[in-house]
Amino acid sequence: MEPLAEEFAEFFEEKYSKEAGELALGYPTKRSLEVSYASLDRFSASMADELLLDPDAAIAAAEVALRKLPLGTMEFGFEPRVRFTDLPESSRVSVEDLGAAHIGKLISVDCVVTKRTEVQPKVKVAVLRCRLCDARFKILVDKNTTILPETCDSCKRRALECDEEHSEYVDLQRIEVQEPIENLRGAAPSSRVAAWMEDDLVNTVLPGQRLVITGIMRLKPPTKKQENAFVYRKYVEVVHAAKLEKDFEEIDATPAETRKFRELAKKPDVFDLIKDSIAPGIYGHDEVKQALALQLFGGTEGKKQVDGKSAIRAKIHVLILGDAGTAKTRLLQRAIEIAPKGLFVSGKSVSGVGLTASAERDELSDGGWVLKAGALVLAGGGLAAVDEIDKIDEDDRAAMHEVMESETISIAKAGIVAQFRAKTSIVAAGNPKLGRFDANAPIAPQYAIVQTLLSRFDLIFPIMDVLDETRDDKLADHVLNQHMLGGPTIASGAVGHTLDAMRAPMDTDLLRKYIAYARRRVHPALSPEAKDAIKAYYVDLRKAATGAVPITARYLDGLVRLSEASAKTRLSPTVETQDAKRAIFLVDYVLKTVMTDRTTGALDVDLVAGTPYAYAGAYRKIVAIVKGLEAEYDMVKVSLVIETAAEQGLLAKEAEKFINRAILEGDLVEPQKGFLASAKRVLE
Ligand SMILES: [Zn+2]
Repeated sequence: MEPLAEEFAEFFEEKYSKEAGELALGYPTKRSLEVSYASLDRFSASMADELLLDPDAAIAAAEVALRKLPLGTMEFGFEPRVRFTDLPESSRVSVEDLGAAHIGKLISVDCVVTKRTEVQPKVKVAVLRCRLCDARFKILVDKNTTILPETCDSCKRRALECDEEHSEYVDLQRIEVQEPIENLRGAAPSSRVAAWMEDDLVNTVLPGQRLVITGIMRLKPPTKKQENAFVYRKYVEVVHAAKLEKDFEEIDATPAETRKFRELAKKPDVFDLIKDSIAPGIYGHDEVKQALALQLFGGTEGKKQVDGKSAIRAKIHVLILGDAGTAKTRLLQRAIEIAPKGLFVSGKSVSGVGLTASAERDELSDGGWVLKAGALVLAGGGLAAVDEIDKIDEDDRAAMHEVMESETISIAKAGIVAQFRAKTSIVAAGNPKLGRFDANAPIAPQYAIVQTLLSRFDLIFPIMDVLDETRDDKLADHVLNQHMLGGPTIASGAVGHTLDAMRAPMDTDLLRKYIAYARRRVHPALSPEAKDAIKAYYVDLRKAATGAVPITARYLDGLVRLSEASAKTRLSPTVETQDAKRAIFLVDYVLKTVMTDRTTGALDVDLVAGTPYAYAGAYRKIVAIVKGLEAEYDMVKVSLVIETAAEQGLLAKEAEKFINRAILEGDLVEPQKGFLASAKRVLE
């Protein structure tokens, strides 16, 4: 053995004899020995240095040493890997900073997995056979192997070909990683890098998972297909992949910070301080800000249903629907800025980034299938803001249902079956169907979002740009004052939220840490008084509500979640009456805004669950007329539908309105201008 291997043999015998013995017993099911850098460093600082600077030589020596250890039974075919981990802080490199300086060095990278390819066989030992003289050669394929020889050593003719059947292979899986979301502060996705996982590392990680990778940075020579022959692609050959079991690395508060948080929590106006820090640059919308404040804290995690199996969702989901120009996007951006972990995506650009998760063909695996994590998976454990939610496509919508209810995303495509964990709170914003709300029509039917998705949100805020003189006066003052305060920055909407940070009563960084602390340390439980308050409200609500769809227990879960979040804002272990009242106020506000029938003043849950009685009647009538006329005509003239509707007592103007509505709902289609047909689909 060479000197370095001798040293490793000594090291293993002294520090890892037990683990090496277990490996020998478990081989080949268990195929690698995990070795801590720190223990090597304590044994020999020079060996540890050698490992960082020339990991290829050091790991090769360590593996030779391990194979030669007197471990009993293993004489033949024992080829375990040595996987080093826990590198010093000085060897940590961010994905973005990976560069030429790190080539061939052992480094560690803190990252989140974005993609994973299928497992592919990679040649480890190539068997070459001469077509002419039948001589055979074995070539060890390693990082230095670029091409296999073609000339036969015995007959000196160019007649070698690879004997695939007799060659030896190792499993290879490529992944792609990027900087963890919580380090980005909601900014655009950063650089990404490919990482290669071999042998027992394959299929051990999923997209969306947080990892600390220990690996060797390598360069992949350009392929013939590539345009620029001098651009090498970097990748990390993974030596060890440590999974972070938590959704993100939560840095615990220092004792000084903890004292500060406790003092803050004692302030009687702590909730207002938090709420007013959400987006002070935006006038009004106090209820939305309250909802966002509660969402950032979330309910009590880890509670189980009565059956003891399924978990009760603790994440709060909020939806803001409103006319263009009502600052929805800014509210979302600001929530992401404050969240300990958050990611902002727009429904329009989502097809590029990916909202949920997917299986697609990709260059990472040379055209093979890759599993790819989208925003909701990457933001796992945190908050995802989805702007323009009305623009997301059918597949993403279905996946969103699953995330919001079961906190998972399942994929079944092209033989790939996978389930991702996605414990993500969602704050979404969208436009009404016709761009803005018609103040004279019921609100809920104007939502451009399917009912099944709507019902997953705890709170839905329709924001209307209504004419209101006193409010407009205050708003004008507010905006003008901002101009005086904010100088040039306010001119651009895109940087508006940084101005929010400037004006917030609580420093954004402090607020973020406070939230992280509350989420980690505070798990409030309902007091009997709070329980009674929630119950009383719920019972009253069920009595007051008319309409076919009842107020369901879903509302009860929501009320509890919001109350728990409210208790967390004061770091209180107990949900008190004041918390229940806050939750009731918000739920009641939303119900009153959306469900009150403007003519009768009664609560009509159908307004949320679908359409109000009278309204639904006229709507169904129009669709039925089109269906009836279809028996006679291939395509039904709009004018004929309006005529028929008039005979049934519906004004032309009304009929037109419901025709447009039915087209938007997808119950009618317009195959050609001026003509209608019913949509051939099963109605929900
Ligand atoms: Zn030959």
